[in-house]
Amino acid sequence: MKAKITLLPGDGIGPEVVEAAQKILEKIGQKFGHHFDMEAHLIGGIAIDKTGVALPEETLAVCKKADAIILGAVGGPKWDDPNAAVRPEQGLLGLRKELGLFANLRPVQPHPQLMGASPLKESYLEGVDMLILRELTGGIYFGEPREKRINANGEEEALDTMIYSESEIQRIARLAFEIAGERRKKVTSIDKANVLESSRLWRKTVGKVAKDYPEIELENLLIDAATMHLLSRPRDFDVMVTMNLFGDIITDEASMLTGSMGNMPSASLGDALNEFGKQRGLYEPIHGSAPDIAGRGIANPIGMILSTAMMLRHSLGLINEAEAIEKAVDSVLNSGHRTADIAKEDESPLSTSEMVNKLIEKLA
Ligand code: NAD
Repeated sequence: MKAKITLLPGDGIGPEVVEAAQKILEKIGQKFGHHFDMEAHLIGGIAIDKTGVALPEETLAVCKKADAIILGAVGGPKWDDPNAAVRPEQGLLGLRKELGLFANLRPVQPHPQLMGASPLKESYLEGVDMLILRELTGGIYFGEPREKRINANGEEEALDTMIYSESEIQRIARLAFEIAGERRKKVTSIDKANVLESSRLWRKTVGKVAKDYPEIELENLLIDAATMHLLSRPRDFDVMVTMNLFGDIITDEASMLTGSMGNMPSASLGDALNEFGKQRGLYEPIHGSAPDIAGRGIANPIGMILSTAMMLRHSLGLINEAEAIEKAVDSVLNSGHRTADIAKEDESPLSTSEMVNKLIEKLA
């Protein structure tokens, strides 16, 4: 296969983990006889520095032509000025919106060898296998109006809008039930229906969609309670579906079941198809640009590399190749190799590139 993959390294540890993904893909190409045409483009803070905008038109144009996109992370203290007119996150949000990537899939499967890295007791973690489905192009991250203004008392105030239409909720809910049908047949929908009007519409609409899937159990939870249930009974969850803001927050919490943010992959998918008739997705780890460790060569590349496996599966239909990466990760962790974020005090951690080399050895 010949596939066009756009790389968007971004900021902080983004370039470090994207380089890791690139090396793994080169190895996969060599082993399985594929050619991945990988070209890097600007997004986020570095794009602001070089072009004045977070999502240059050229980047958007190549992403629209790519078979799949790999993204590191955007943002960092350099671009954090609250008064700045352009912000790195505009690049990522703009890309998701422009590509219609309404569904963000975030699998949570604690690795048996990493249970000690999680703050939760092992007895809670055994058998945890959930998929969090986050709505990605709606809700408060996109709602209008949004503004800063001076109110009648002469003080500054700011406003964001949480808005969902029935059709936006229907399409993400339908996907949740479809995915649950291939898993353990349970959907947990998370909202704040006791307070928010948009959440009441969310709950009503998810309930209507559920009627088309009588074989699937539907559980509704309020976001505040869900954050607690996620820690007290994580094994009970199969597919969790929720809106953009709550999904953003609850997946960072869920990442600690796996021991580190650095372990968690994600795939963002929409309706647009690539030249292989598969979804043109955006694949990125759930973590951010981690400015506290950027440039030190110690970032955990596993979340990015497992995102790459998701790309091979969802956007290129290369199932054996995806499984080869997942098995290599499994095997490296079983052999006791760890980056600093998941190493125990008495273990000497590997650098990012040492971890990648171990994975490449396993792939060979
Ligand atoms: P973060 O995810 O960057 O980091 C949180 C903590 O996890 C840090 O201590 C970091 O060192 C650690 N960590 C994250 N990824 C790691 C990895 N691969 N290996 C080892 N440790 C890892 O979140 P933050 O510190 O809240 O945000 C930093 C910047 O990233 C901000 O500018 C934020 O806006 C941005 N951000 C970007 C994205 C994205 O691009 N998708 C997502 C979240 C945050």
